[in-house]
Amino acid sequence: DLGLGSWPARRARISPHAIALREADREVSYAELAARVDRLAAGLAELGVRAGDRVAYLGPNAIATFEALFAAGRLGAVFVPLNTRLAPPEIFAQLADCTPAVLIHAPELRPPDDGRAMLTVEEFSALADTPGDPPDEDVDLAQAAVILYTSGTTGRPKGVVLTHNNLTFNTINQLAHVDVLSTDVVLCTAPLFHAAGLGQVSLPTLFKGGTVVVAPRFDPGWLLEAVAEQRIRAFSAVPTMLQMLCEHPDWPAADLSSLRYVIYGGSPVVEWVARAWHARGVPILQGYGMTEAAPGALLAPLSGAADKPTSPGVPHFFTDIEIGQDGQLLVRGPNLSPGYWRRPRETAEAFHRGWFRSGDLVRLDDDGWATVLGRMTDMYISGGENVYPAEVEAALAELPGVAACAVVGVPHARWGEVGFALVVPRPDADLDEAAISEHLVARMARYKVPRYIRFVEDLPRTASGKVRKSELPALIPEENP
Ligand code: AMP
Ligand code: MG
Repeated sequence: DLGLGSWPARRARISPHAIALREADREVSYAELAARVDRLAAGLAELGVRAGDRVAYLGPNAIATFEALFAAGRLGAVFVPLNTRLAPPEIFAQLADCTPAVLIHAPELRPPDDGRAMLTVEEFSALADTPGDPPDEDVDLAQAAVILYTSGTTGRPKGVVLTHNNLTFNTINQLAHVDVLSTDVVLCTAPLFHAAGLGQVSLPTLFKGGTVVVAPRFDPGWLLEAVAEQRIRAFSAVPTMLQMLCEHPDWPAADLSSLRYVIYGGSPVVEWVARAWHARGVPILQGYGMTEAAPGALLAPLSGAADKPTSPGVPHFFTDIEIGQDGQLLVRGPNLSPGYWRRPRETAEAFHRGWFRSGDLVRLDDDGWATVLGRMTDMYISGGENVYPAEVEAALAELPGVAACAVVGVPHARWGEVGFALVVPRPDADLDEAAISEHLVARMARYKVPRYIRFVEDLPRTASGKVRKSELPALIPEENP
């Protein structure tokens, strides 16, 4: 068994007493982690979890999140961490799509009963208290290890399947690009329900035998203190986090001397933020990737990152890229997903002869460093989370008072972009902003709900009736962003 579930035991042979994972009031060594993962896997097997079954997880980052990942892997089962920020109907749709054998959840996030086996995180952790041996599974690296959901233009959940191979090669790619030592202590504050939370820093560190400090949520003041006190070497972030850190009152006096680098992605940071970090002697390395690449496709190398702060750099070691006829970046490599969970049509559309169509327009400079020029799909990123306007527009259109609507991302100082909805009300419709927000908040994560709503008489359209999205920003009043 070369699968992810075997990692703790393999590390325990090399460095049993090193601390693998730490949270506020608990830490586990590699030897303890390996033993716990075995017993947790036995416990899950006793609950009926078999190879190929899904084990869903809904809760903030914790040691238990990693234990569930490894225990599921040990059984050849598939770990499905769900986005804790989604609204109940969205969670429900993902559970219906992946039909897990068991759902592990934080008590405050318990979804309504529907006959599914459910365990609180605490109940799951307690499975490690009863001795037991898991069945001997010989996990094939081509088997699914994880399913991560991305939304899409339809709003229908789309589960990206990542195999043991994908996550292993992403780890090797990271290690080829940046230095990770067995003595490193890193911070895992990016959510583990995104590939970046797992792949950019946490799994490479656990592979090398370092310590991952797990934070349940991002808190800039706490993070600055933790970096100094625990001598943190690296963490992964999104641009909004990096900006919030350098705007924090403790930033000027914070001791950042332990940090060797920070990896971030999703979009470039604004230039003053890049300069603020580099001026403090901390290189921030921009990564470009996607869930389908587990997640790394490109990463800025340490040398040169300060000179080209807006570029996500060059391809990963075992990852190849090509620019298609249409300017779209194509990505290939052993870190690329075999496709979407039970979605052969979407899989065939996105993957072609081993190449993944990113949907992103990318240009390469003479040194081979990339610039992301734009997206072919209508999507914007708010605080690191993708928002598909089509999904929001479909929910708006459900309101009887809405004759037409369009949603665009507009620049925002903190979140990068936020949503702006233009709504054409029906004659005599009784619509106001509050009613629209309430309707959306019940259906979707708050980061998808447009921050601004404006009522207009008409939307600019093409001859065929399609909304001209590029003309919408002109309709947005000055007093808004
Ligand atoms: P996801 O699958 O949610 O990780 O989203 C992947 C998408 O995020 C990519 O297809 C890009 O559109 C966007 N993205 C990721 N990294 C970057 C980056 N460094 N710069 C610009 N866009 C990015
Ligand atoms: Mg995508």
